[in-house]
Amino acid sequence: MDYTPRKLMAMIKGGFEDEALKSKTIWICSSCYSCTVMCPAQIKITDVMYALKRMAIEKGVYPKGIPTPVLAQEMNKIIASKGRNAEMEVVTRMMLRTNPFGMLKMAPMGLSLFRKGRMHIGGEKIKNLKQMKKLLSGLKKKEAK
Ligand code: SF4
Repeated sequence: MDYTPRKLMAMIKGGFEDEALKSKTIWICSSCYSCTVMCPAQIKITDVMYALKRMAIEKGVYPKGIPTPVLAQEMNKIIASKGRNAEMEVVTRMMLRTNPFGMLKMAPMGLSLFRKGRMHIGGEKIKNLKQMKKLLSGLKKKEAK
C-alpha cells in the first residue's frame, strides 16, 4: 500500500480525491473488513475502498501494473453480457490486457484447474438475460442523474 487506510481517509477528507483514486492502496485492499470493525470513528473504510475502486475505474485513473482494475472491468463486461461470470474467459481477458506472456506461466495451473473441474470453458448465460440487461440499463440511467 502506498498510503495507509488512515492516511487515505484523511486525503479524501482533505480534498485530495485525485491522489486517492490513483493510489495503489485501494487495489491492494483485500476487503477483509478488519479496519471497518476496529475503526474508532466508525468509518466504513472497506465500503469507501469499494467506492474508490468504482470511481477509479469509471475515471480510468487506476495505477498501471496492477491487474485488479482490469479484472474488475472484464468481469463486469462478461456479467453484463451473460448474467454470470466465466472464470476462464475473465482470466484470459485480464492476462491478454495486462501480461500476455504470463499466460504461458499460468497455463499449467489453468489446465490443472480445468482437469479437476474447477474452471470451465465458455460459461453459462442466465435464463432471463433480457430482464437483467434492462435492470443494468436502469441502474446506469439512475447513476447518470
Ligand atoms: S479492509 Fe482489510 S485490507 Fe482493506 S484496508 Fe481495511 S484492513 Fe486493510
